Amino acid sequence: MNKLLISACLLGDPVRYDGKSKALHHGGLAALLEQDRIIGYCPEVAGGLPIPRNAAEIQMGDGAAVIAGQAKVVTRDGSDVTGYFLSGAKQALALCRQHDIRIAVLTESSPSCGSSRIYNGSFSRHAIPGSGVTAALLKQHGIRVFSQHQLDEALSQLQSQGGEQS
Ligand code: SF4
Repeated sequence: MNKLLISACLLGDPVRYDGKSKALHHGGLAALLEQDRIIGYCPEVAGGLPIPRNAAEIQMGDGAAVIAGQAKVVTRDGSDVTGYFLSGAKQALALCRQHDIRIAVLTESSPSCGSSRIYNGSFSRHAIPGSGVTAALLKQHGIRVFSQHQLDEALSQLQSQGGEQS
């Protein structure tokens, strides 16, 4: 049965930059967890960044621009952490390929996981349209990426791929 990749912080893992989680509570997710069809993943931690860590944003573009080498990810204090973000994104893609995952639910607005908007790099909480680095790389390889606000739609797509949720 098809599996779902999901941001680890949405599963309640305290992996965010501030050491907190962003836990989702949803019956459909609980059923998939019981069936061992959920893979939780944090690209920033997998890429080698610590918990907690400095907040980071993409500057001069979005995740696709980072992948193309035209933008970078920097922390509030100016450190370039692009390499960590790219490493986490590549590992996410490898994980999806390993498990034949075609749907992901990732945390909106994150510079890694955001799927429709990210912050603009000014650390002023100003959001712009665009994807984070991991979300962009997964999309480029045909994986459908949803935010946590689209969980019902993601689960419905997963079910239509051929696996029952419960
Ligand atoms: S990188 Fe993604 S999974 Fe990790 S804490 Fe940020 S939003 Fe959550």
